[in-house]
Amino acid sequence: MALRKNSEDQRARRVRLDTRAFTLAVIPAHGGFKREWRIAYSAVFFLLAALLTVAALIAFSLWQRAPLEEDKRVSAELASAWLARWEILENGKYRITENLDELQKIGDDYYRTIFGAKPDLGEIEQTDSTMQQSAKILPLMSVMRIITAREEAYASMPLGIAVRSNQITSLYGRRVDPFGLETNFHTGIDFAGGVGAPIYATADGVIASAADEGTSGLGKNVRILHKFGLITVYAHMNDISVRKDQKVKRGDLIGFVGTTGRSTGPHLHYEVRVRSLEPDNYYELTYNPMPFIREKL
Ligand SMILES: [Zn+2]
Repeated sequence: MALRKNSEDQRARRVRLDTRAFTLAVIPAHGGFKREWRIAYSAVFFLLAALLTVAALIAFSLWQRAPLEEDKRVSAELASAWLARWEILENGKYRITENLDELQKIGDDYYRTIFGAKPDLGEIEQTDSTMQQSAKILPLMSVMRIITAREEAYASMPLGIAVRSNQITSLYGRRVDPFGLETNFHTGIDFAGGVGAPIYATADGVIASAADEGTSGLGKNVRILHKFGLITVYAHMNDISVRKDQKVKRGDLIGFVGTTGRSTGPHLHYEVRVRSLEPDNYYELTYNPMPFIREKL
């Protein structure tokens, strides 16, 4: 008897489970045909689960996109500052209406507010006496030109890292020389990496040089010239896989990690430089690459 009751219970439960459902009814206000739909719980749960999954996927993709948009914004701001500098030096025909110091300040402020660091930009204008004399002028830039330049600038900013290594063995700045006890200024960032690890361009540009300095200095090294006077340097390579004047895109293979030149072990020495734009007075200033790569490490 007990057994029979149990099986009746089970059947009853099964029936209850099967019949749980919502009823959706449409009852016309002025009489007429009444419509009813039964929607099973399972269907409602399935629908909710599907909606939640879609929402989660959308949220995830937005969250993933966010850093890229932020990079884009930052590099666009930087590009505007660089563009202003670039035009003023490269293109003397622009009428200048404001003080160069003001322009300098704009560039500096971008760095300070975005990266929280003070740049050492001060020298380019100071070395050009003509510019100092006619320091009442600012480039007349149209909004359209800036917008167009922004897309270009994003591709030209050396963002991210050149080698798949998150182990930095030496930062930019003053340090004890690895060959002795004296201090020197380390002009780049060193990334640990095995011999033969691929090295990629960090921005679009043109190969300015692909050289072998033998056992001294940078060893086998590549310099890429980007827009806005920016240059990236990749040193101590084992092999170089690009040639001078070749165009490269961000992420293109340019060579392999090695320990050529003045190096104590396999690593990539990576620099970000800014070149002067006066043909008579060529020089390159190194920058701390960290602000450019920080977001992507
Ligand atoms: Zn180094």
